[in-house]
Amino acid sequence: MTIAYVLHQSLYLNITNRCPCSCTFCLRQNGDSVGGCDSLWLEHEPSLEEIVEALGSYKLDSYQEIVFCGYGEPTERLDVLLKVAAHCKSQGNPPVRINTNGLSDLIWQRETAPLLAGLVDMVSISLNASTKERYLELTRSKFGLPSYDAMLHFAAQCKRYVPKVVFTIVDVVTSAQEQEACRRVCERVGVPLRIRPYES
Ligand code: SF4
Repeated sequence: MTIAYVLHQSLYLNITNRCPCSCTFCLRQNGDSVGGCDSLWLEHEPSLEEIVEALGSYKLDSYQEIVFCGYGEPTERLDVLLKVAAHCKSQGNPPVRINTNGLSDLIWQRETAPLLAGLVDMVSISLNASTKERYLELTRSKFGLPSYDAMLHFAAQCKRYVPKVVFTIVDVVTSAQEQEACRRVCERVGVPLRIRPYES
């Protein structure tokens, strides 16, 4: 079972397969791993102890970042994520990043960005689209149309608690016109945009 894997000189943590979305472009639609690592489908959700044990095989300081990003939405396990982030910080100072759909406030029915303070150095949030309708079309979020505004609100809140916040869109699912519209949304929220290539 793959809990930790190395990609782009960073150490990635795969702590859940749960996700409130079913994105049309999600890697999970077509395969079971990324970058040639073993399957990211988990036999069971790893406990905090199992994750810490998996991390024990790696020298954390030798990686550019520790990234919570697997075959699922990491904030589905926010309590465990925060404990693992605290463990990573206690082992040295590797920057900790979360790659998220930004829907944790809806998942947990509360403001979650404040919980990241001091534990998470960067949050990368999937913006996906410039309108709530297009966002829902792409993500098929179980929370429906309110998902988009909740995600934008989470991003704005993260700016108060996390040193670095970025929005991402995937190049193959956004036209040039839509990319420009996304840029305007990013300017409005005050979060930079990264257009990322589709990874298979
Ligand atoms: S939010 Fe991420 S993990 Fe969830 S379906 Fe979309 S791309 Fe896949």
